[in-house]
Amino acid sequence: MAGVRTAVALRERGFDGPVTVIGAEPHQPYDRPPLSKAVLLGTAEGSAFDIDFEALDVELRLGVEVTRVRTDAHEVDTAAGAVPYDVLVLATGAEPVTLPGSVGVPGVHLLRTLDDAARLRPLLAEKHDIVVVGAGWIGAEFATAARQAGCAVTVVEAADRPLAGTMPAEVAAPMAAWYAQYGAELLTGARVAGIEPGAVVLAGGRRVPAGAVVVGIGARPATGLLAGSGIELGPDGAVVADRYLRASAPDVYAVGDCASYPSDRYGERLLVHHWDNALQGPRTVAANIAGGDEDLEPYDPVPYFWSEQFGRFVQYAGHHGAADTLLRRGDPAEDSWSVLWLRDGALVALLAVGIPRDLAQGRKLIMSGAVLDPERAADPSVPLKAAAR
Ligand SMILES: Cc1cc2nc3c(=O)[nH]c(=O)nc-3n(C[C@H](O)[C@H](O)[C@H](O)COP(=O)(O)OP(=O)(O)OC[C@H]3O[C@@H](n4cnc5c(N)ncnc54)[C@H](O)[C@@H]3O)c2cc1C
Repeated sequence: MAGVRTAVALRERGFDGPVTVIGAEPHQPYDRPPLSKAVLLGTAEGSAFDIDFEALDVELRLGVEVTRVRTDAHEVDTAAGAVPYDVLVLATGAEPVTLPGSVGVPGVHLLRTLDDAARLRPLLAEKHDIVVVGAGWIGAEFATAARQAGCAVTVVEAADRPLAGTMPAEVAAPMAAWYAQYGAELLTGARVAGIEPGAVVLAGGRRVPAGAVVVGIGARPATGLLAGSGIELGPDGAVVADRYLRASAPDVYAVGDCASYPSDRYGERLLVHHWDNALQGPRTVAANIAGGDEDLEPYDPVPYFWSEQFGRFVQYAGHHGAADTLLRRGDPAEDSWSVLWLRDGALVALLAVGIPRDLAQGRKLIMSGAVLDPERAADPSVPLKAAAR
């Protein structure tokens, strides 16, 4: 996503030098969100981007893995030989975290690529018993698709609630009920002790029947190719980009799931693994490549993502921390509600379940740094924008 969007944005900016996109996967570049939704259910065949690379004069080298980056020589290595660059854009995305002891075990799957989705699709169509490990965003979406396909679904989560890595308990706790409402069993505080043919064994001895196991326990930046390159990586494995999305080596940019960047807006470095970041970041990278060093554009958007799970449309904008004040807007037992996070009275983030209008208004309020009247903001009958002071 971020790689091809950078190429397109460069052409939109009038950049007329040669542009080459190198990608390890053999497929035409494609969009990932449908992989856990329509592509999985077979209601969409694929999700290739509708981009005419030939007309844009962008060279695609597919099925080619970059094994090493040599910044001194301004070259990257591939099995087919070295490729020189004037400017290198790292857009290698992320790789799913694997469950120890499960790699290579028959019947255990990840969900990151089109090939993963193609392997999983017939298993859903055949209505296998499915065990999902991890109640995060991907786990919830996969569980949703598997239930829609008519599979028995058990979700095994080590934490005491879903989305434990991203949402506080009071926000995530009501979301746990969605699993049962959709006919999926959610086991929290449950650790996988081992995987046997046809079953997942939990610590404590319970055996959960599993025709297929899908592991969705997070993703890490795909930056293994940068070993020895001198390009700085953070403790999270992400390329440490600056506010212009430049990596620590000359003429190297990093964008999308593989890179973290310092946000002035939130006063911390952010690593965002969501689609919108892979859309917005490339515009900044292209502007900075095409514009030259004198006129650099900083990158500091209001992050945004969505998830479709258990018949609900969940959207989030901004970024919150544990110290921010949480404000409920509506009853989480209902179909639609929102949660707001305020810092010094200003809206910094919101989660909207089934209320795209709150999301759209909230996103603008976050961008403008609006201070909200908490009483009005907590009242769902008052339009969110009317709660600004
Ligand atoms: C199943 C699924 C569902 C999702 N749903 C949503 C959603 O509903 N909403 C949302 O906001 N976000 C969603 N996302 C997240 C979103 O798709 C990602 O944030 C986005 O794809 C990131 O784009 P990227 O270009 O950084 O990485 P990617 O799209 O992962 O692209 C990176 C590419 O680089 C290639 N590559 C890596 N290393 C090398 C190498 N050494 N040499 C050559 N090529 C290499 C990879 O093969 C890959 O094709 C979803 C992700 C997945 C996996």
